[in-house]
Amino acid sequence: MQPVKLELQKDLARLLRGGHPWVYKRAIERPPQGLPAGAVVDVTEKGKFVARGYFDPLGAVRVRVLTRDPAEAIGPIFWRRRIARAVALRRAYAPFADGPTDSVRLVHGENDGLPGVVIDLYGKFAVLKLYSAGLTSHRPQILEALRGEVALEGIYGRDEDAVGSDEEEEMEDREGPAAKGQVLWGVEPPDPIVVRENGMQIAVDVRAGQKTGYFLDQRENRFALRRFAKGRTRALNGFSYTGGFSVSAALGGAREVISVDRDADAIALARKNFELNGLSPEQHGFVAGDVLEYLSERRDQKARFDLIVLDPPAFAKTQKAVPAALDGYASLHRAALNVLAPGGILATASCSARVSPEEFVGAIREACAKTHTDLQLLEERRQPPDHPVLLAFPEGRYLKFFVFRKGD
Ligand code: SAH
Repeated sequence: MQPVKLELQKDLARLLRGGHPWVYKRAIERPPQGLPAGAVVDVTEKGKFVARGYFDPLGAVRVRVLTRDPAEAIGPIFWRRRIARAVALRRAYAPFADGPTDSVRLVHGENDGLPGVVIDLYGKFAVLKLYSAGLTSHRPQILEALRGEVALEGIYGRDEDAVGSDEEEEMEDREGPAAKGQVLWGVEPPDPIVVRENGMQIAVDVRAGQKTGYFLDQRENRFALRRFAKGRTRALNGFSYTGGFSVSAALGGAREVISVDRDADAIALARKNFELNGLSPEQHGFVAGDVLEYLSERRDQKARFDLIVLDPPAFAKTQKAVPAALDGYASLHRAALNVLAPGGILATASCSARVSPEEFVGAIREACAKTHTDLQLLEERRQPPDHPVLLAFPEGRYLKFFVFRKGD
């Protein structure tokens, strides 16, 4: 079947030619009537081919680009080729077959030329998450391609509910309604799946956990934290989820680690994760509650921590929300600096793509000024190679991770 042609509004082809994969609703000259989700379309400028993608009648992004080659057809061979390329990148730079890590992101959406498709690998199980209704009809081919590339016992599906909004939500926004899941192929995954991450054992709930069950993007940052945890007596991990940073801190030498998250199920798994790693949960703290409330209570009690980790959900999911997000980052850091001991370590992350590293640091600087604190930057990190960033797609560059030391 010939792809339907959609003419772009004037002057909008430039970004697409440069490799940006999104065509917004307003960019289409004449909205098509009755075109089904998943239909393959060619976007054109003055009738000339610009790119080929799939149609989503509900999303703010109406077309996601799959190829800029007019000769490339979208079918089983296309999906196989793209998924093979993505998996090869991981085999080379984020190996998952043997060794200390068996859990990686195999496909990172737009950044792997597979817009809207996320595949996380947890041991012998893959979790597929589709971020657009336009992908549903392509799912069988995606599954087939994945099975051809990686030896698996099962594939579990956790689709995002199709939501129409003015601005596309970030793929990495932490949280959101838990998507309904189902086995798409193979056997039921165990509950939980216990995976390896740089030698740690981590229990992952792929059915009810947030996103696909775990936040693989912080894997190398969790590992990097270990060296800063040496000799620490009291650590706080705010927004801990299932305690990945907590276990890492404890293995790195922190004597007591307190994990705080408002997701009570995640906190229960955090406790289990300590046990799985031979650490006695009795020596550590687990709090199901709000981080800001916890910080202000601890401040009133004059508590001090010599290591604090902060990894909140995306504060800015849209461009409009950026100023409020920066205020939020500033007050969160203020609250943390109030309970950070002199000489203490602050490891802090932002996963809002719309907040630049400079803006994020600016918010931390503001918190320093308000609390009369000096911070030294010890390490600056981003996301690992299984979360590559397509340069033409700035939205893909979301994760920031900084390690600071507070002055004595
Ligand atoms: N650091 C984690 C990932 C954190 S994701 C890891 O390495 O796996 C962000 C977490 O923040 C989610 O688990 C969410 O439940 C939690 N969260 C969001 N707002 C919160 C709040 N106000 N107080 C406590 N936890 C919150």
